[in-house]
Amino acid sequence: MSNLKVDNVDEFGRCCSSLFEKLPKTGKPTETEWTVLSCVLQYDSISNDIEVVSLGTGSKCIGASKMSPTGDLLNDSHAEVIARRAFLLYLYDNIEKSIDNVDSIFAKECSRFKLKDNIKFAFYSSQLPCGDASIFPKNADENYGDILEKNKRKAEDNICQTDSKRSRFLDIHRTGAKCLPQNDQDCRKSGVEYHLIGQVRTKPGRGDRTLSVSCSDKIAKWIHLGIQGRLLDMLLVEPIFMSKFIFGSGVPYSEESLIRALLKRDPDQIIMPKFLPDFFQTSVVFPHVKSETKVRPAAGSIIWTKANNGLSEVAIQGRKQGVTKKKVKSSSSSLCISKYNLYKKFQSILHKDEGMQQIFGSNILDVQYNTMKAKATTYEENWQYLKNNFFKSWTVKPNIWNFKVNVT
Ligand SMILES: [Zn+2]
Repeated sequence: MSNLKVDNVDEFGRCCSSLFEKLPKTGKPTETEWTVLSCVLQYDSISNDIEVVSLGTGSKCIGASKMSPTGDLLNDSHAEVIARRAFLLYLYDNIEKSIDNVDSIFAKECSRFKLKDNIKFAFYSSQLPCGDASIFPKNADENYGDILEKNKRKAEDNICQTDSKRSRFLDIHRTGAKCLPQNDQDCRKSGVEYHLIGQVRTKPGRGDRTLSVSCSDKIAKWIHLGIQGRLLDMLLVEPIFMSKFIFGSGVPYSEESLIRALLKRDPDQIIMPKFLPDFFQTSVVFPHVKSETKVRPAAGSIIWTKANNGLSEVAIQGRKQGVTKKKVKSSSSSLCISKYNLYKKFQSILHKDEGMQQIFGSNILDVQYNTMKAKATTYEENWQYLKNNFFKSWTVKPNIWNFKVNVT
């Protein structure tokens, strides 16, 4: 049976734009500002229903020196990262519903939770992710609505080494994300020789260097290991993958750079993701993309999740907007998607579910965040393999998150 609605990627784009329009003005870009919009959409392979289940906007990142050991601060406020973290709240919410025997996307299987077969997810973003996927040749007669001709680009070629082949291109699209300090650096020569390709990069931030890798790197990790991350991995029967990645129009687009950055970084790569997503560009243009009139990035980030019947917050510099100086260190200033609050959700599920307590043992009440994350051994094994064979390099973050949460 054909699935017209679900097969029409514009339908996905329209759902995201229309939810964004319905949200309050707070946190949205002004006339002269631009932002990125990312969403996770759920669709049902039986009923054809499509709905947005999480949304994020923003393009800011906070430097490494601001990282908070209590997990109350969100360092990376890029739209893609916010949409993912808000999606995790939606997953936790559905796990709770499953425990309570309320209608849920999960079914219980051997003490863990399994996504129902008809439930699929798509990831939408108004532009290509920062980092490697954003690096590709500019076409002289570039039409942002079209996918560039395939034979004009060779993703496997290293731009810096193949300048002669690429001389017909005047320039490439660039990313602000930087190569890791321990690796080779961009040539930064004019035109096509500016960037290296296939590199793990870190996001630019205000002040000191960030330890947050680019969205291309993060999304590649989600595609290979699942989007659920370490903690949820322990609660689920299997990882959660996005079936489709859908990008907006009116911005540069290259399917080939997406394939390189997210699926196959180098021609000799021996691993491919088990679950291959499809890439699409919708014809829907998000009205707040960067342009001649929209020159500054919006300061705030909008967070929205379908969890708890729809919950939205606005983030400024990694905390809730409008927090007074006095309250800045209190947990009430912490966003619903901070490490602290996501761990609190995880812990509240362990407390609620006896099956989980049997798996995790009785001392779960007193486990620190980083100790708990280290218990995800299957995820860790897969991550080590991916790091060595796909990324070949990664940022090293200090192990400072030894906080505990209070679930009562
Ligand atoms: Zn990004």
